[in-house]
Amino acid sequence: MFIFAAMDEVLKNLPKQAKDKHKENKKLFAKLKKKPPKHLDLLMQELHDDEFEKTDCLTCANCCKTTGPLFTNKDVERISKFFKMKPQAFIDAYLRVDEENDYVLQQVPCTFLGADNMCSIYDVRPKACAEFPHTDRRKFQQIAHLTLKNVAICPAAYNIVEEMKKRLP
Ligand code: SF4
Ligand code: SF4
Repeated sequence: MFIFAAMDEVLKNLPKQAKDKHKENKKLFAKLKKKPPKHLDLLMQELHDDEFEKTDCLTCANCCKTTGPLFTNKDVERISKFFKMKPQAFIDAYLRVDEENDYVLQQVPCTFLGADNMCSIYDVRPKACAEFPHTDRRKFQQIAHLTLKNVAICPAAYNIVEEMKKRLP
């Protein structure tokens, strides 16, 4: 219970903390885009792995509760098959098309999130869920716009970016 209370407190404070760092982060990413350090991919992999050894997503699930992924056609095919539904029936039941023409959830928290913070479609979940918060992807500097948003949602992403700042020259 203590762990959940501690995470609640972290999540409560995160938007303000991220807002306070926004300018600084924006500046840093602009610099990284201009001249990415050669070892950035390696560094991000290390920071990501270290952070997720400490952070237990099952105490959090804030991404599933507040944003939700986009669903590619492959995601729709795989997940509808899992439910033994026709892809279109799955789309009609759970998805909508957003402003950018992507399939997204009709509602958040995600319908597939359990009360215990477990994902009921974990093995077939959307690629975007499996890769969130994308802090170990190659050429991390290219998703600056996304990361600037994610640090206000995901405590792990916030910590990774803060650590990254300490480790870069
Ligand atoms: S990825 Fe981030 S926001 Fe999602 S559950 Fe894990 S720590 Fe929380
Ligand atoms: S599909 Fe699973 S991992 Fe993705 S948002 Fe929903 S509950 Fe979370």
